[in-house]
Amino acid sequence: MMEEQKKKIAILGSTGSIGTQALEVISEQEEFLQVEVLTANSNADLLIKQAIQYMPNHVVIADEQKYTQVKEALEPYDIKVFAGNKAIEELMEITEADMVLTAMVGYSGLKPTIKAIENKKRIALANKETLVVAGELITQLCIENRVDLIPVDSEHSAIFQCLVGEQLDAIDKIILTASGGPFRGKKREDLLEVTKAQALKHPNWSMGAKITIDSASMMNKGLEVIEAKWLFGLNNKQIEVVVHPQSIVHSMVEFNDGSIKAQMGLPDMKLPIHYAFFYPQRVQTQFKRMSFSEINQLTFEQPDPITFRNLGLAYEAMEKGGNMACILNAANEIAVAAFLKDKIKFLQIAELNEKCMQSVSFIAKPTLDDYVATDAETRSFALSLLS
Ligand code: NDP
Ligand code: MG
Repeated sequence: MMEEQKKKIAILGSTGSIGTQALEVISEQEEFLQVEVLTANSNADLLIKQAIQYMPNHVVIADEQKYTQVKEALEPYDIKVFAGNKAIEELMEITEADMVLTAMVGYSGLKPTIKAIENKKRIALANKETLVVAGELITQLCIENRVDLIPVDSEHSAIFQCLVGEQLDAIDKIILTASGGPFRGKKREDLLEVTKAQALKHPNWSMGAKITIDSASMMNKGLEVIEAKWLFGLNNKQIEVVVHPQSIVHSMVEFNDGSIKAQMGLPDMKLPIHYAFFYPQRVQTQFKRMSFSEINQLTFEQPDPITFRNLGLAYEAMEKGGNMACILNAANEIAVAAFLKDKIKFLQIAELNEKCMQSVSFIAKPTLDDYVATDAETRSFALSLLS
């Protein structure tokens, strides 16, 4: 394929777990894909290394103190370097990327994603928090701008793949699978004193710190329930969660005739990233294949809503609507950061989330400015509870 026909990819958050795996996918498919933009928060060393290897047109480091380091290191190359979160947003207006992979973590993904959609970029969505914070606004923007949101989250990619050739109104329900994380089977009293090292040890996936803690507390599944609602236009009763410790069935769809489709494979994020880059095509990969003779059982069990309160909070936030999921997300970002700094205990994550949902101003029909204000109000309220 000619150079100019390659699909140009912008990776927001290229130095993270999803970002680095996306670059591996691009290396494996260099005949078809090329890197147009790389961004990071503060990991300048890795960003520089990636830029020299992949030669994007634009690079942004959000941490402005690292600008000089990145700029000087990339001086010999034909790469434009910017700094600051605003620059990531502005770049979405001028980049020639065909597709933007949103692989930043948390609320920081919201504004760049909005700018990318307004500039008609196809989105490969890893940053689920964007849909949790402002799902209604984002999906509306996608309709107005005729932009496709292709999920990268493995469960949502599974559902998306099960829905190819189907009608959305033929869905009875979707069944999101959850690994159960490192504390599956534990009760509240077992979790009183768990450490961050224990919470960071995920049985099946190697991921960034925030989502790994979210997986241990089941907040991740809660965020995914909300993500699924917006991606697939479902109502709250149509989304079920089942614990499946092997992480082989990535999720399922049950249709109105009673038929259930599942998408399966080894747990490897490169597959949903690859699928999102090429959708609607399927393209050959060398990924390790699953063998039924090596996997001797697939098991399923009900989640435990008492121990893992966060999952219930997500359903409550979804039921309430408005800015409630935005409140939950912001509270959880503060709570996880505090847990990672040993400032609160594991079970206090859900307690902090619940207190914020009870106290921060509720807005039934939020605008973008309202979401921004809600995020700020929740963070400062959550921090006040910590001090
Ligand atoms: P990581 O923490 O590994 O990486 C986050 C990336 O975003 C890094 O490049 C980081 O830069 C950058 N970043 C972080 N904060 C900011 C900020 N404020 N402004 C600009 N850039 C920022 O996260 P993951 O890759 O694990 O997750 C990324 C997203 O994908 C999350 O929303 C997560 O929920 C979702 N996801 C991840 C999965 C996984 O397997 N990891 C699976 C499914 C979804 P720096 O390195 O400089 O800090
Ligand atoms: Mg997931």
